[in-house]
Amino acid sequence: MSSRPVRVRFAPSPTGALHMGGVRTALYNYLFAKQHGGKFLLRIEDTDQTRFVPGAEEYILEALAWCGISPDEGQGVGGPHAPYRQSERKPLYRQYADQLIAAGNAYYAFDTPEDLELVRERAKAAGNPNWQYNSITRTAMKNSLTLPAEEVDRRLAAGEPYVIRVKLPRNEEVKFQDRIRSWVSVNTLNLDDKVLLKGDGMPTYHLANVVDDRLMDISHVIRGEEWLPSAPLHILLYRFFDWEAPEFAHLPLLLRPDGNGKLSKRDGDRLGFPVFPLRWVSPETGEVSSGYRERGFLPEAFTNMLAFLGWNPGDNRELFSLAELVDAFNLDKVHKAGARFDFEKAKWFNQQFLRALPAAELAQKVAADLTRRGVAVPAPHVLEGACSLLLDRAVFPQDVYENGPYLFHTPQGYDPEMMGKKWTDTSAEHLRALAQRFATVEPFAAEALESNFKSYLAESGQGFGQLGPVLRLAITGVTVGPSVFETMGLLGKTESLERIESICRAH
Ligand code: GLU
Repeated sequence: MSSRPVRVRFAPSPTGALHMGGVRTALYNYLFAKQHGGKFLLRIEDTDQTRFVPGAEEYILEALAWCGISPDEGQGVGGPHAPYRQSERKPLYRQYADQLIAAGNAYYAFDTPEDLELVRERAKAAGNPNWQYNSITRTAMKNSLTLPAEEVDRRLAAGEPYVIRVKLPRNEEVKFQDRIRSWVSVNTLNLDDKVLLKGDGMPTYHLANVVDDRLMDISHVIRGEEWLPSAPLHILLYRFFDWEAPEFAHLPLLLRPDGNGKLSKRDGDRLGFPVFPLRWVSPETGEVSSGYRERGFLPEAFTNMLAFLGWNPGDNRELFSLAELVDAFNLDKVHKAGARFDFEKAKWFNQQFLRALPAAELAQKVAADLTRRGVAVPAPHVLEGACSLLLDRAVFPQDVYENGPYLFHTPQGYDPEMMGKKWTDTSAEHLRALAQRFATVEPFAAEALESNFKSYLAESGQGFGQLGPVLRLAITGVTVGPSVFETMGLLGKTESLERIESICRAH
C-alpha cells in the first residue's frame, strides 16, 4: 500500500436519486477512510449538464446524512479544495487539456456531429456497428493530427466548434493493479480517443475526475465496477500528466435477487422492495420511488446490510454498528463476484436492530407512525408495553400498529369467520360472568386475570377452546396475537370491560 495519507472520495453525478449501490460505494469509502485515520470527501460530478436533475444533489446529501456517512470535506461541508461541485470548477480544467495538447497527448477534433453520424452509418453499412474514434480511425477524421497546422490555427481563430480528444497510443498494454480485481490489463486498441473537453468548454467526466482526484490529493479511488473500463484511460492520463496515480478498487455490482443482472433503478418497486435509500419523486415524470427510510428501515440496519453486499468479516458475526464496521471492514476482502441482493435478509437486519433499540426509542418511532396514521398516541407506559408485546412479530416500527391496532383503539369489527365458528348462544352470558370476576381483579394484571379465567373455566365446565377465542375476539377483534391477558392488562380495567360488554351487546 502506498504511504500517502488516505483521502478517498465519493463522486456521484446528480442525475436522479442515489441508488443503494451508490450508497454502498460511499459507505466503503467512508469505512476505509475512517479505519486509516483518513478523510472522506464528497464531490459532485455535474459536468454533464444534459443529465442534471434538480433536487438530486440535495437528495444525495440527505441520504448520506440519514445513513450517518458524513463527509469530512466536500459539498455541503466545505474544505480546503472548494468548490466541490465540478460545474463551479469549470475554468480550472481547460489548462490541463491545453497541457495535454502541448505534450502531444491530446488533439483538437473539428468533426461535426453530422460528420460523426455519417462515418458511423458508413461503418455500419460495411458491417461494423461499433465504429470508434480511435488511434486508427482518427487518421481519416478532421482533427489537428490530420489538418495542416495553419488550418487548425485558422479554425481556432475563427472560433469554429471543436472538442479536445485524448490521443491514445496505438497497441499498448495498459496494466494496473486493482485492490479487488488484482492485475487488470487492457490493450489501447480496445479503447477510444475519448473527448476530454467538450465544445462548451466543459470537461467530460474523465478529465474532470482525474484532475480533481489529483488536486484533491485522492489516494484511493474506490468506485463501482461500471467504471472499470474507464480506469485504463485514467491511468494513461496520470501518466501523461506525470502524476502519481491513486490506487484503484472497483467494487462488485449489486445483482438482482435471482442473480440475473444488475439491480437497476427500474427493478425496485417492480420487485417489491426499494432500491433507493429515501423516497424519490422524479421532477421530470412525477414518478414516485419508495425508499428504505420511509419503508421503516433503521439507518444502522440499512448500512449493516449494505456493508455485507460484497464483503463479510470471514466469521459468523453479522451485526455491526457503523463504528464496528470501521474496525472490521477490509477492502482487500471485498469480493470480485457480483453481490446478490436479498430483501428478506435486509428485513432480517432491520428486525435485529429494531429488537436491540432501547424501549423509549422504539416507542418514539412507533409514536411517529401512529401520528402519521392519525391514531392517538397512548400514554408512554402503554405505548412501551404495546411495543414489547408486539416486538416479536415486528420487522418495522409500523408493524406494531399493523399487528395490533386493538392496542391503540377499540376493534373496528370482529373476524366474521371466527365469530361464526366460536360465538354461541351462551357466549355473551359467559363473557358477562367473566367480566364480573375481572372487575374485582386489582391490580388489573395478566397473571391474576389468567388465574381468574382458569378458575371460571373450571367452575362453569367450559373448555379453553370455547371461551378463550371468544374473549380474545372481544378484546382484539381477531383470534391471533400476543397473550390476551397481557393485552387486557395493558388496556386497563375500564377499557377491557367495556370491550367485553360491547361484543355482548352487538351479538
Ligand atoms: N461521477 C461518477 C459516478 O457518477 C464517479 C465515478 C468515480 O468514482 O470515478 O459514479
